[in-house]
Amino acid sequence: MKGIRTIIPYIPGEQPNYPTMIKLNTNENPYPPSPKIEAILKSFNSEQLKRYSSTDNLSLKKSLAFKHGVTPEYFLIGNGSDEVLAFCFMAFFNSSEPILFPDITYGFYKVWADLFHIPFQEIPLNNAYQINIDDYIQPNGGIVIANPNAPTSLIKPLSEIEELIRQNPDVMVIIDEAYIDFGGESALSLLESYPNLVIIRTLSKSRSLAGLRVGYAIGQPKYIRIAESIKSSFNPYSVDSLAETLATAAIEDEKYYTETIEKICKTRDWFSQSIAHLGFQSFTSKTNFILTTHSKLSMEDLYHYLEKQDIFVRYFPKIERLRNYLRISIGSQEEMNEVYQKLAHYVESNRTKA
Ligand SMILES: *Cc1c(COP(=O)(O)O)cnc(C)c1O
Repeated sequence: MKGIRTIIPYIPGEQPNYPTMIKLNTNENPYPPSPKIEAILKSFNSEQLKRYSSTDNLSLKKSLAFKHGVTPEYFLIGNGSDEVLAFCFMAFFNSSEPILFPDITYGFYKVWADLFHIPFQEIPLNNAYQINIDDYIQPNGGIVIANPNAPTSLIKPLSEIEELIRQNPDVMVIIDEAYIDFGGESALSLLESYPNLVIIRTLSKSRSLAGLRVGYAIGQPKYIRIAESIKSSFNPYSVDSLAETLATAAIEDEKYYTETIEKICKTRDWFSQSIAHLGFQSFTSKTNFILTTHSKLSMEDLYHYLEKQDIFVRYFPKIERLRNYLRISIGSQEEMNEVYQKLAHYVESNRTKA
């Protein structure tokens, strides 16, 4: 038949669901969202749902404006940051030159580029699995970088991010800060000086709201307006009224989230040090996950072993340079104690076998 589209979709981590499992494969937050969320859900007036949700999401934008120290016109809200990224790709990547992103990064960038017929070039990470900013100083139609990068967990210092933006003044540079709350330095302070910077944030990771689907972009109003017009051309009501209400409460409960983020970072640093004693080498993580390897073990075998123990982590068999790595999301301290015990047992039994 004529006119039928072929596309390779984004493949997310599996979503197994049974009570005994330890789920560490999609970088979700192990802690529940702010208690304010539950309070609102209990008292939410369902009558409100007979009306359409707001198209400007002003109540959420006002909370975000207060949190980030800018005005509401700096924000675009969407149904998860995946959708916000899609709107930004459509709004800002319309050149005939290829957009640039790392060869090892968040899998959706390539999927969106394909879907929207945007030419792209994947720039290899260097030998240390780092983004090399100099590689992005070449003619291009735009740039998208996750900082910290996923699944490497590595962060670029702000000075290098600024250099990247400064050297590419004629194109939009999208910095995806999905994990920035776990210890990195945000590019927010560059926003006033660089109109070609757009920052993407999500409530899915640090705000424990992956299932709510809320993300946002921050950029200069002149360009945010263009992304808004893309949203209005596609799905003006993409953020439902319950989601907007709950997201606003989450943004306003900074104290609760500061505490859960601290717990996760503490567990992360403890876990990577502990498994280092078992011979695992992990990158220095500024995220809520670690990327780890072991010189004497097959990570593919370990992945299957963990799966049999109802511990789900992420293995990327299709990415050549990650064939012997596992990405492990950081769960609660209790969960990570248990994972550590399993890993210690596995390492020990493989030693005696050898
Ligand atoms: C998880 C993640 C997203 C998507 O977040 P949602 O808001 O849940 O759509 C975007 N970018 C990166 C780098 C991520 O890891």
